[in-house]
Amino acid sequence: MMADTSNPPLVVDRKARMKIPFVDLDLRDPGERIFDFEDVVIPFTPERARQEASRCIHCPDPAACVGACPAHNDIPKAMGLIEQGRFLEAAQVYHQTSTLPEICGRVCPHEQLCQGACPRNKREEPVLTGALEAFVLDYEREHQPFQIPVGEQTGKKVAVIGAGPAGWAVAEKLVGFGHKITIFDSKPAPGGLLVYGIPNFKLPKDVVWKKWNDLKKAGVAFVGNTYIGKDKTVDDLFAEGFDAVFLGVGSGIDAKMEKTPGTDLPGVYESTDFLIRGNVEPKYLPLEIDEPLKVGRHVVVIGGGDTASDCLRTALRMGAGEV
Ligand code: SF4
Repeated sequence: MMADTSNPPLVVDRKARMKIPFVDLDLRDPGERIFDFEDVVIPFTPERARQEASRCIHCPDPAACVGACPAHNDIPKAMGLIEQGRFLEAAQVYHQTSTLPEICGRVCPHEQLCQGACPRNKREEPVLTGALEAFVLDYEREHQPFQIPVGEQTGKKVAVIGAGPAGWAVAEKLVGFGHKITIFDSKPAPGGLLVYGIPNFKLPKDVVWKKWNDLKKAGVAFVGNTYIGKDKTVDDLFAEGFDAVFLGVGSGIDAKMEKTPGTDLPGVYESTDFLIRGNVEPKYLPLEIDEPLKVGRHVVVIGGGDTASDCLRTALRMGAGEV
């Protein structure tokens, strides 16, 4: 039998790789992006992705990036495949350990996880593993869309409460086992935090809707505007014939500033309310919060984390002159 030479083994010369210069992500001009809610990051080209992946020095097992990844994605393997231009195979590496890689590639805090653990940090910048993950999943979507595997039907029905990332992940796993899944949520549209929390300039909604279409094609059903605990109970679901119920409701309640006078005045918003009103398309807004958001010239954001950053970026895009 002839040896397969179509995919020659990766040559890893760590010293040579350490000399490959870091080139940061391309971002859209701030003067342009301040006027819209489109993605801030300019995606990699295939050539640029291969170049960036070639900066990986393929740390000895266990690589720090894999240990720091909550899903334990085999990042060095994916980096090797990307470097060789084998993007579809790299996408498969992510599918093995993650149900939402196209979303994690965009919104995971990579700087604190895989990229934060990368030893290239010691001298310069880490391998941009997050953007590379997003790149290969987009490439796969364009060239050979992934289909969620559906198992042989068991006749069992499972109710998933909460249409956010946890609910979607459970739904994908359970259709793989052949169960019928119905997801319930209090909001009109599926997505949870992916739709009602993360702004479009960080996570373009077409990425979210395409993933939801994958789930629908796999047979996952959605019932919106249904608050389990008020509109119906878990016992009602069992009485309706569901064999199991998964609770994946997340935490949608903001930290309160009850001791601070004035938090109930007009023009003062809690972050979740502000981000929903500012970022969600009107047709997907719950009825009780469908009135337009009013942002003044001068905006104060209290807090300094990711959510505060999302709020200030939203306020600027909505016309605030100073935040
Ligand atoms: S930690 Fe960084 S250099 Fe090491 S294998 Fe992971 S991505 Fe590559």
